[in-house]
Amino acid sequence: MSKPSEIWLKPGKDRSLLRRHPWVFSGAIGQVRGKPGLGEVVAVRSDVGVFLAWAAFAPASQIRARVWSFDEDTKVDAALIGRRIHEAINRRETVALRSTAIRLIHGEADGLPGVICDRYGDWLVVQFNSAGAHAMRDLLLAELVDHTGCDLVYERSDSDSVSLEGLEPRTGPLTEKARQLATQAASVAIIENQIHYSVDIAAGHKTGFYVDQRDNRHLLGKLARGRVLNCFSYTGGFSLASLKAGASEVISVDSSEPALHLAQRNAALNGVDLACAKWEAADVFKYLRQCRAEDQRFDVIVLDPPKFAPNSASVERACRAYKDINLLAMQLLKPGGDLLTFSCSGAISVDLFRKVIAGAAADADVPLHVMGTLGAGEDHPVLLQFPEGEYLKGLHLRRLR
Ligand code: SAH
Repeated sequence: MSKPSEIWLKPGKDRSLLRRHPWVFSGAIGQVRGKPGLGEVVAVRSDVGVFLAWAAFAPASQIRARVWSFDEDTKVDAALIGRRIHEAINRRETVALRSTAIRLIHGEADGLPGVICDRYGDWLVVQFNSAGAHAMRDLLLAELVDHTGCDLVYERSDSDSVSLEGLEPRTGPLTEKARQLATQAASVAIIENQIHYSVDIAAGHKTGFYVDQRDNRHLLGKLARGRVLNCFSYTGGFSLASLKAGASEVISVDSSEPALHLAQRNAALNGVDLACAKWEAADVFKYLRQCRAEDQRFDVIVLDPPKFAPNSASVERACRAYKDINLLAMQLLKPGGDLLTFSCSGAISVDLFRKVIAGAAADADVPLHVMGTLGAGEDHPVLLQFPEGEYLKGLHLRRLR
């Protein structure tokens, strides 16, 4: 076998790798030795040639390489991939997830950069979001089938990061059985917190469902009462938790009509009182203003917007948007009311999010207590060395008066 290509870093740029951060940014690279292709395994070395890591090369991406291993003796091969998958699945066996939808592989945190695998009942939905994951796709598929026993696998490599990595989006069934049953991919049945949902793994967002909000939907099931406003409702996760809990009125607002239609179908699956449910196809920014103009008040409000900051360049604009909706929501809360507010932007830290929310409360002149800090479930582990992996952050706030 020919000698692997190498990346030599600029002086001082080895620090984050020495701390086991798994990304090499383009600006850190001094020299590329050899002609590595897309996703090829390269050796990463310091400016004086000290070995740092084996990583997958992505020539077009800002994240120029993602680390497979920090150990020089480790071979990046089927055995390594199999081991990582096995460990990831084992880690989740001890977790009581109260769901048939679970994230089995969570990228970097499971030692598989750019690889996402969600299990929905008998189906696996995979995303190969990085050049390295793409290069290993056949191996990954074989090992996933082997370790889970699932032969229904569907690919949804159509996230933003796919194009940022210089890859073509790819979606569709990956196994023979999945090809035969492909029409069923539009409505896969799951049960989460004793609530039934139909998930469209072929055309839904991400892998079809926001598995990461499971625990927070469960929390809402305990809090919901009176009038609930669920903003950015998607297929109705927080709405169903509220309806099941016996809230008298649940308004679900989303700009996507197909998502709201599926939300209504999901409500019908659960025998809840549909007369309590309102579905509003609207822009949340406008809807909240309209509520304020009408002097409406709510007992509980959920704000679970899409990723406002897809990268660090958009953080400032995103913060303004988070502040705007939070300020409005705070004003619409009844005294004693609860606000669950989230950000799923990896580029916005837990601290920054909290500052933005505090700024909104100050401008709204609404006193609030922090009742809890929220995040993704245990099947979305966070590596201490990789804070970007803690993308979902949230606060449970209660209005004092
Ligand atoms: N809370 C949901 C997930 C929310 S995902 C759950 O638990 O399943 C974010 C949603 O926001 C998407 O459904 C998207 O269609 C919607 N959305 C994005 N921008 C919007 C806007 N400006 N107004 C209303 N909805 C919006």
